[in-house]
Formats: sequence, C-alpha cells, structure tokens
Amino acid sequence: MTKKFRVGILGATGMVGQRFIQLLEHHPQFEITTLAASDRSQGKKFQEACSWRLPGEMPAFVKSMNVAAPEPPLDCELIFSSLPGDIARASESSFARAGFPVISNSSAFRMDADVPLLIPEVNHEHLALLDTQRKKRGGQQGFIVTNPNCSTIMLALALAPLHKKFGVTSVVATTMQALSGAGYPGVASLAISDNVLPFIEGEEEKIEQETLKILGTFKGARIEAAAMAVSAQCHRVDVTDGHLAAVRVKLLRLPAIAELTEALASFTALPQELKLHSAPTQPIIVREEADRPQPRLDRDAGKGMSVTVGRIQPDNVLDYRFVTLSHNTIRGAAGAAILNAELLIATGNLI
Ligand code: NAP
Repeated sequence: MTKKFRVGILGATGMVGQRFIQLLEHHPQFEITTLAASDRSQGKKFQEACSWRLPGEMPAFVKSMNVAAPEPPLDCELIFSSLPGDIARASESSFARAGFPVISNSSAFRMDADVPLLIPEVNHEHLALLDTQRKKRGGQQGFIVTNPNCSTIMLALALAPLHKKFGVTSVVATTMQALSGAGYPGVASLAISDNVLPFIEGEEEKIEQETLKILGTFKGARIEAAAMAVSAQCHRVDVTDGHLAAVRVKLLRLPAIAELTEALASFTALPQELKLHSAPTQPIIVREEADRPQPRLDRDAGKGMSVTVGRIQPDNVLDYRFVTLSHNTIRGAAGAAILNAELLIATGNLI
C-alpha cells in the first residue's frame, strides 16, 4: 500500500485552503491531519471558522477538526501553505527551520534565489536548487518549494513548448482575472459588478519576474533567468473562477501556424510520463473554435489542471497571438502545489 503523508494546511479556511481540502479528500498519497488559520479562527472547529464557498458540502472529515495557529510544531509531516504573502514569510520559514517540507502557494519566497519556483511540466530540473537551499540555510532538514502566481502558471505553461522549440524573445500578456483570485470575501460587489478593475496590486510585476525565473536554466547551483522581455497588464473581471490572458509573442525562429499549434497541443512532460496523480493527460488543450477559451466552459478542463489555448493567429505587431485560460484555484494554486508535492515524492525529495 502507498504511504500516505500526513499534511497540514496553513490558510485552510481561505479560497485556496478550501481547494486543498477538496482536492486532498480522496488523494492516494496525502491525508489531512492539521488545519491552521488566523487568530480569528484558531481554537474553533473548522466548520465554525470556515465559510465554505465551493460547490457541494464541506467534507465531513474536516468539520470537527480544531483550527490551529500556523506555527510549528503541528501534527503533520508536510505543510501546504496558502497564507497571505506578508504572513507567509515568517510562518513558512519557521516550519522549514523546524524540519518540515513546505509546499507553498504564497508569493513570499517565490523569487528567493535558492527556492524552486516549480511547474512540474516546465522546470522540474530546478528542484536541484534544494541542495543549494539546504547548504545556504545551515543544512536544515525542512525546505520550501513554491508554485507561481495563478496567472503566471498558465502563461509559463503555454510559453514553455514555444520557448523550447522556437525561442521566445518577447511576450505581451493582458490578463482578465477571476474574483476568487482575490480570496474571500475579496473585491466588494459594488466595485466589480458591471465593471472591470484595471489594477491588481503586485500582479503585473509577479508575472513579469516569475516567468523569467520559471523559464530560466539551472546552472551551477543557481537559475539563470530566461533572456526575454515580458510585459503584463492585469484586470479583475466579474467572473467567479478562471483566469484568462490575451498573449502576443515574438519568436527567434518563426514557425508556420500549424507547427506552432502542434507544439502546444502535443506538449507533455515528466508528470505525464510518471503518471502523477494530479497530472492532466494534456497539460495544454488547444481549441479550434473561434470563441474559445471561455472561463465558464473551459476552466474545468483536465479536472482544472489543463491550460486551454485558443485564438492562435499571426499577429501584426509581434509574431503570433493566442488566448490562454486556466482554473486559478486549481492549476493556479492548490492543484499546482499538490502536483509539486507528487513530483517531490516521485523524485525522492519527500520520503
Ligand atoms: P483568502 O481566501 O483571503 O484566505 C486567506 C487564509 O489565510 C485564510 O485561511 C485566513 O484565515 C488566513 N490568514 C489571513 N491572515 C492570517 C494571519 N495573520 N495569520 C494566519 N492566517 C491568516 O486568500 P486565498 O485566495 O486563499 O489566498 C491565499 C494565498 O494563496 C495568498 O498568498 C494568495 O496570494 C495565494 N494565491 C491565491 C490564488 C487564488 O486564486 N485565490 C492563486 C494563487 C495564489 P482566517 O479565515 O482565519 O482569516
């Protein structure tokens, strides 16, 4: 029988925390033994602390669990963190120092030079940074692995096969991001109804910086950032789940449109080879219809773990343009972190 890792979720009452609970309920390699959140929730039963926002019932097994403080030690072997970025830095590093592997979804450590910013299909070789991290942090047994920002993931996944085959030199991405990306309760209804907000704090910088690290190369114990220019503009739109981005790319070698489409549609990588539990059969689904992808129709593709790309066309300013979409709390957050943990197990980094 497969070993089940006992996991704790930090930020368990939030939008991403709830996804973790939903996705881990029947997971073959993980069982939830601890839930942690803010002092507003600590000491309460989970069902009293959490306003369950996902379709369906709150899973019965978490209802009577006590909510703990996000401080070590907790009754678990592994931490999934979905704390707000400003809280995450102190909390996650204290768990890593106390010997816990921390699989984080927050922004706190993503750009630290010794922390893998991982998308298993794109840059699994960046896991070699864990040796650098252990040496730099005094040989500590615990470690931190992060997943990218929810818009960065779908962008980097779509760019990865293009960069590998044709070399991406410039990227312009304009996002339309769902409400659940702002957590709960998130944006006030009077601010977003009948409206688009052309500002999401810190988001454009995250996309521009994280993409270069993810598509960068592991060289001599560090990541050499990808040599491309990335420009992002981000908007909050009145959609519950599913981030969408209109993307334009300039390439080093100009392929025919059929070759570019094939590079996206046929893309598979190590998680598919290893048949990791959360890995979608197709990381990128290409849709030919003129009006796809759409959040409501495409966000659940591949159980929320596939990125859907459509509207592939030659572009009059750069070389090609397309639209990419993915589920922000699954491929963009909890599902991404769980896939990272599955890869850590498969590569012997979690035993
Ligand atoms: P959220 O719905 O606002 O949930 C935040 C969680 O953190 C709650 O469990 C909250 O607990 C807890 N928390 C807040 N302040 C705390 C404190 N001072 N000490 C301890 N716990 C505290 O936010 P979210 O959307 O789940 O996002 C969580 C993290 O994931 C953020 O870093 C976000 O940037 C990142 N992320 C989110 C998405 C997304 O699509 N939503 C995607 C990628 C990454 P209480 O309920 O007790 O307040």
